[in-house]
Amino acid sequence: MKIDMHVHVVGTGTGGTGCWYRPRGLTRLGAPFLVRSVGLTSRDLAGPDFDRVYAKRLLGFVRGSSLDRALLLAHELPYRDDGTPLPERASFYVPNAYVLRLAAEHPEFMAAVSIHPSRRDAFEELERCLAAGAAALKCLPNVQGIDWNDRRHTRFLERMAEAGLPLLAHTGSERTMPVMDAKLADPRVLTRPLEIGVTCIAAHCGTGTMLVDPDYLDVFAGMTERFPHLYGDNSALAALNFRLRPSALRRLTSGPLAQRILHGSDLPVPVSGLLAWAGGMLSWRDCRAAARIENPLERDAQLKRRLGFDAATFTRSADVLRGARA
Ligand SMILES: [Zn+2]
Repeated sequence: MKIDMHVHVVGTGTGGTGCWYRPRGLTRLGAPFLVRSVGLTSRDLAGPDFDRVYAKRLLGFVRGSSLDRALLLAHELPYRDDGTPLPERASFYVPNAYVLRLAAEHPEFMAAVSIHPSRRDAFEELERCLAAGAAALKCLPNVQGIDWNDRRHTRFLERMAEAGLPLLAHTGSERTMPVMDAKLADPRVLTRPLEIGVTCIAAHCGTGTMLVDPDYLDVFAGMTERFPHLYGDNSALAALNFRLRPSALRRLTSGPLAQRILHGSDLPVPVSGLLAWAGGMLSWRDCRAAARIENPLERDAQLKRRLGFDAATFTRSADVLRGARA
């Protein structure tokens, strides 16, 4: 079973999904690119049926690709430590119930729910999501303000470990959403979950977006030696964001680190081989061949193969995600 384990749902709330999308400041500039990367327009985004159209696109992409399933990600609000939600600091929201419903309706989809552990109803929500078949829990510690090393989250993490629910956490810098606490981009934010026994996936393997951002690939690599249940994903590494450097690619595609990598696209982040080509990691021919693939999930998968990520990166998630084999 081949899985893309990093696919974002975006919605504006049409059809009662409960989603919202309010890009602010500079992130507003990115909105047309995000919708264009899934073959839609700003007009669709403003339309009365956007959420259904977007989900239908995703389904078509999975069915028309070499992949069998996609893990759809919910998107939680930032919260203060005391459990106060901070919706004004977020640019979008995707409720757990919506991704769980999509996964229940379509065997091509699995659901990654998102729960801030400081939420007053965090436990109840976790139980609801486990009962409804959640395959993972996704978060962006730096964007949502989650310090997993905080002892107050111990019980929540113990329940995740017991239920076999893996934690997929954004690591490395973030440039498309407002950041609450830049320090929480460090993969060491996963130390306590790993010690408690939660399987963790460091999205982007700690790589930085822009050349000036700190890069935590070394930290991530060091942690994989200590924690056998730590993985990283290669999402957004075939995008126009400078995450992928030649030295990083060598480490992620060869040696022991390669055995910890899971395939993910990060759709709707636009997929392109141009920077990989400019960095000497991809031939012009391969770059052009990928550019001709219209389906962005498949284009990303092909680019990853051409960049040297092996076949196991596509199937490994079946052993990591909760219930994937069912
Ligand atoms: Zn992502």
